[in-house]
Amino acid sequence: MVTARKVLYRSCFCVLALLWAILILSGPLLAADPPVKNVIVLIMDGCSDEQLTLARWYKGEPLALDAIRTGAVKTHTREAVIADSAPAASAYATGVRTGGTVISLTPQRETSPGAAPGTGDMGLEPRATVLEGARLLGKATGIVVTSRLGHATPAAYMAHAPARDRESDITEQAVYQNIDVVFGGGRRFLLPANAGGARRDQEDLTAVLRARSSSLIDKADELQNLKKPKVFGLFAPSHLEPEIDRPQFAPEQPSLAAMTRKAIELLSQNPKGFFLMVEGSQIDWAGHANDPAHLLRDLLIFDQAVQIALDFAAKNGQTLVLALPDHNTGGMSIGNRRSDNNYTDIRTEDLIAPLKKMQLSAPGLWRQVGEDKTPEKIKEVVLQYWGIALTQEDAQEILKKAKLHGKEAHYALGEVICPKYTHLGWTTHGHTGGDVPLFAFGPGRPIGLLDAPDIGWITAAALGLDLDKLTRRLFVDARQAFPGQAVRLDRSNPDNPVLTITHQGRQATLPVNKNNLQQGGETTELEGVVIYISDTDRVFMPLQAVHLIRGEGKSLPDIRN
Ligand SMILES: [Zn+2]
Repeated sequence: MVTARKVLYRSCFCVLALLWAILILSGPLLAADPPVKNVIVLIMDGCSDEQLTLARWYKGEPLALDAIRTGAVKTHTREAVIADSAPAASAYATGVRTGGTVISLTPQRETSPGAAPGTGDMGLEPRATVLEGARLLGKATGIVVTSRLGHATPAAYMAHAPARDRESDITEQAVYQNIDVVFGGGRRFLLPANAGGARRDQEDLTAVLRARSSSLIDKADELQNLKKPKVFGLFAPSHLEPEIDRPQFAPEQPSLAAMTRKAIELLSQNPKGFFLMVEGSQIDWAGHANDPAHLLRDLLIFDQAVQIALDFAAKNGQTLVLALPDHNTGGMSIGNRRSDNNYTDIRTEDLIAPLKKMQLSAPGLWRQVGEDKTPEKIKEVVLQYWGIALTQEDAQEILKKAKLHGKEAHYALGEVICPKYTHLGWTTHGHTGGDVPLFAFGPGRPIGLLDAPDIGWITAAALGLDLDKLTRRLFVDARQAFPGQAVRLDRSNPDNPVLTITHQGRQATLPVNKNNLQQGGETTELEGVVIYISDTDRVFMPLQAVHLIRGEGKSLPDIRN
């Protein structure tokens, strides 16, 4: 399947190349530049058409996305009809459909109907990402999110791990990937536990970033002073605040739109072009919580980020913009049981008026309830921030459900309020499995119904990259490269495993999750990070390191398509 697709894309690009050659021959003014130099991928996590329709009604005018609708994407994973964000984003980042909660590795097993068995790409092996490839081509790279940096979607572009919850490893790999522009949350994963951070390995990654000449910022107003890369801007210890709550709870945090504008400004300084991934991370959480207040404002600020990307792409002419969800969440519908018999009478204002009154997200509202978990307090807070006068029974029902939801107590608000006081339906607090809409702009924009891994191949082809060649160059199995007793994994410090390779009496060490090779008292910065997969006890290292350890002056294979 994958091979057939690649042949298809290669032949598409051959046709493009031919057209391009004709253009060059026919006009001396056309420089020998590829049709696409930059790719911007904007992911609205956990979303689909119904939410976009609602956002359009709420805004009262077309969305930026409306102008660039081109198709849809199938989102299922290798194992399941409903995707988790980790395999969903991994397909977009690597062009390989995987499963479980894997971050940019091949799947562990293959059980899904329709998946070709025995394709050989199994066993939790790292697959190179379009971001890693863009960097090797000399392009600038960037990640902009509203979640922690180590969350599933950004992780899939920057890191490789058998499970998405390995956030410490993921953030460490992100730091050693030498990404030019990083904006989001998750600052606590840069610092050791004894310095107020969350790292168990006791490493201070802020020192690493400074040594690699990254500016470190943590406030929105520092964005304006940034004139050039590199920069790591993590604006909260954990996730950023929901867009609707930001003015009240965290005015020092930038919006997704502001971060996207600055990222494009910085990355576009690279004469070879850039790759940028932007995620509206919390659209998904609003879906999980069945929370229209959180959903609408996060979706509209995402749409503003899309407009910023489109404005740049229209001016630049060599930028491919892809905007799409990774899967849907919450199963939201315009219309619910309350509208079973009167749906033809629901007017725009009936739909929108209750939503316009909502001034905080559900988690923000729950924070205002505080410790006073009484029906009276619930009624007071819901009236104040959502403009809804609840009955005593509704307030009691919310308290009852909140207890059942435990850590996600705020899920109770949408669950009780949406069916009775809005025209919105929700079917689940989880993800759903339908196709998601695809939006695209620029040279070679894809059209029609795509498969999730196609997004990875299209991004790679536009960047001029062959993901298979790239994977072979970045991820060599250490024990296969150095057979016998030469390879040891020192796990005496379990949070900081180190690979040791003895070759012709000389010892080389490669710490896991980093891109450092230490040999003969010297440290070399490698072009990729060292990955250890505990499940299979395999270690992967860049081919560059193999050459250096063997003392071979071989040149590295080409990764262009
Ligand atoms: Zn997701």
